[in-house]
Formats: sequence, structure tokens, C-alpha cells
Amino acid sequence: MQPLDESALSIARALRQLLTTEPTLELFGSPRPPRVQTLDELHQRIHTCTKCPLGFTRTKFVFGVGSPRAEILFIGEAPGREEDLRGEPFVGRAGQLLDKMLAAIDLSREQVYIANVLKCRPPENRDPSPEESDACLPHLAEQIRLLAPPFIVALGRIAAQILLDTKTPISKLRGRFFDFGAARMLVTFHPAALLRNPEWKRETWEDLKLLRREYDQAKGRPSRF
Ligand code: URA
Repeated sequence: MQPLDESALSIARALRQLLTTEPTLELFGSPRPPRVQTLDELHQRIHTCTKCPLGFTRTKFVFGVGSPRAEILFIGEAPGREEDLRGEPFVGRAGQLLDKMLAAIDLSREQVYIANVLKCRPPENRDPSPEESDACLPHLAEQIRLLAPPFIVALGRIAAQILLDTKTPISKLRGRFFDFGAARMLVTFHPAALLRNPEWKRETWEDLKLLRREYDQAKGRPSRF
């Protein structure tokens, strides 16, 4: 495991705090509702979110898909056009490539969990603003708390930089595992970036094999990767 500098760990600390504290009463103001126990309950609670302006421009809230018992959580950036229309992450061209990437290491959408940092589409697919990611991160933190996945994969520069609270370029983050609360988080390229830069596929394949090897090792079984 390679160390990250202090600032890069602050978001992990904040997320860990969100994941480990049990908020019951606010010191001032009204009591918080009790924590949800399932992903379905969380979906019900947050799908009408308007904590940031994207709540007023989205077509559909894109919560996430996959197994509630998934041991690997893939986190992208934000829904695109197709995802906004269908309410499901990674269903456009990048999503089709993600499916192939999963299949290459003997995984399927049904076995893992797939979500985004932002649950609503930024207009014209622009990068998320800090206000938008700050507003949306508690939703992701709750998903991580409920899934408690031992492995997380940050897909692409934006997701990796937001989750690790760093400006370090993706070229220096990818292919490495970082401690992320109780999980180990691997950074790799975003499938949409691979569609634009097919020459990055070779390194991505190395990252995927590394993920599969570490996962197999954690499960105590031999790996064919
Ligand atoms: N890109 C993402 O980061 N997420 C999606 O759901 C689709 C495209």
C-alpha cells in the first residue's frame, strides 16, 4: 500500500467519519432521521434530492446498480446523456466498454456494484463543480457504508481526484491501491477516456488484472490473472 499525502487523505477521513459515526440528534435543530438499513431504503430517501442545482435539471436520478452484496464497487464521475434518460449508470458507449472490461476479468454487472460520484447529470457533461460533489458525496458515503465493499475502483481522473481530494494527475494515481476507510481503492482510467485514447487500454488491462489478483488473494483462492 503506498502512502498519500495529508491533504489527499482528508476526504477519506471525512468519508470514514460519515461511515462510522451514528448521528442521532443534532446539537441544535431537529433530530436527524434514523439511518437507513438497505440500499433500496437509501434510494427511496434520496432520489428526489435537490441539494444542488443539478436536482432541477436532471431527467432521472442515477442511484447505482448491482448486487447489494457486491465486494467490488466501481465509481464513475457522473451520469451522461443516456444514463440521465434511463436512470442507470454506465449504459452508453462507455458503459458497454465497462461491461467488456468486467467480463475480461470474469466479472459481470450483476456481481459488482456500479455508482457515480454525482447522481445527476451535469449539463453538457461538464466536470462536476466542487459544490455539486460536496452536496452529493454524502449519498455515496451512505452507499459505501451499506455495501461495505472490501474493494473500490475509482474510474478516471475526476472520480479519483474527488475521492482522494488530490490534484495529482491520473497518470500518477492509476495502477495503485489507496486505503479508503475499510476498503482498498484502485484507480484506473475511465472507459470513456479509453474510447478517446485506445493506447491507454494496455495499462488499464494491467490495472484490471491487478484488481482481480488482489481480489482472488483476499478470497484465498488462486488467480488465473
Ligand atoms: N460516465 C460516468 O462517469 N458515469 C456514467 O454513469 C456514465 C458515463
